[in-house]
Amino acid sequence: LLQLYVPLNLLGTVYREIVQALVDMDAMFRLLGQREEVKDKPGAPALKVSGGEIRFDNVVFAYEPARTVLKGISFAVPAGKTVAIVGPSGAGKSTISRILYRFYDIASGRVTIDGQDIRDVTQDSLRASIGIVPQDTVLFNDTVRYNIAYGRIGAADTEVKEAARLAQIDKFIRELPQAYEAMVGERGLKLSGGEKQRVAIARTILKNPPILLLDEATSALDTHTEREIQSALHEVSRNRTTLVIAHRLSTVVDADEILVLEKGEIVERGRHDDLVARKGAYAAMWNRQKRAEAARERVKKLESDP
Ligand code: ADP
Ligand code: MG
Repeated sequence: LLQLYVPLNLLGTVYREIVQALVDMDAMFRLLGQREEVKDKPGAPALKVSGGEIRFDNVVFAYEPARTVLKGISFAVPAGKTVAIVGPSGAGKSTISRILYRFYDIASGRVTIDGQDIRDVTQDSLRASIGIVPQDTVLFNDTVRYNIAYGRIGAADTEVKEAARLAQIDKFIRELPQAYEAMVGERGLKLSGGEKQRVAIARTILKNPPILLLDEATSALDTHTEREIQSALHEVSRNRTTLVIAHRLSTVVDADEILVLEKGEIVERGRHDDLVARKGAYAAMWNRQKRAEAARERVKKLESDP
């Protein structure tokens, strides 16, 4: 099962990065037996998800006592809705997602899912309820089929293919020399970032979690890849409570609420149109991104049509 491509002696080095990327971490933790500070309470029940409402109430968190990273964060993601978190690098965006997944326990405040404090339920049940599409997906040195089926070990072949179809990766797979049996990962076919991400989306569709946690790539994707990923993500987030660390313009525009995070505090919040009209931090960010986007499109047009 744990066919990680990293040799064991390298695990120490890459461990931190892997944690940061939130990649297949249950497997990593079981393998490493580390990070024991987060423990299940004795006799903790399983999380019972109805709609999957997420609430952060006045959450304070520090990795190291000397520096508070989240300074009293409150927000809710109603069942089935999408909330986007935006803000500069280092603001604490990924920290919020790590806390929801309970990599760390908070200093004060409360995080609940459907009213249950995530510290009061088993970590297994919490993590089984949350699907993650990380920025950078680690593929196993195994077949494409295995890499998708990992989302739910024991899934039927037809389910794997249906997930691939919904994630808009199945045409690509069928055109590989060995299709679903093609070997990928470090020692197999190298997939592009966009292809890997769609494999991760297919995995998540197969896992079928009520809650989604997305960390979008910061780097600009080309318009075509962006569109493919966006529609795959749209498919996977349909009817699921979704918390997304957003970089793509299309994501933030469509979000039910946008939180602007700066230095561990929510400095603005609202829907896209309202925030643009406020002409504050979000509007400045939005205009900057739009200009960058327009410049990229102009360069591409020049390249394709000199
Ligand atoms: P963002 O995702 O918004 O770029 P992060 O949530 O990753 O920001 O980080 C917020 C702050 O916490 C940063 O100052 C970062 O350096 C710090 N930080 C992140 N991870 C750790 C860690 N494992 N140990 C100590 N500090 C960390
Ligand atoms: Mg981050």
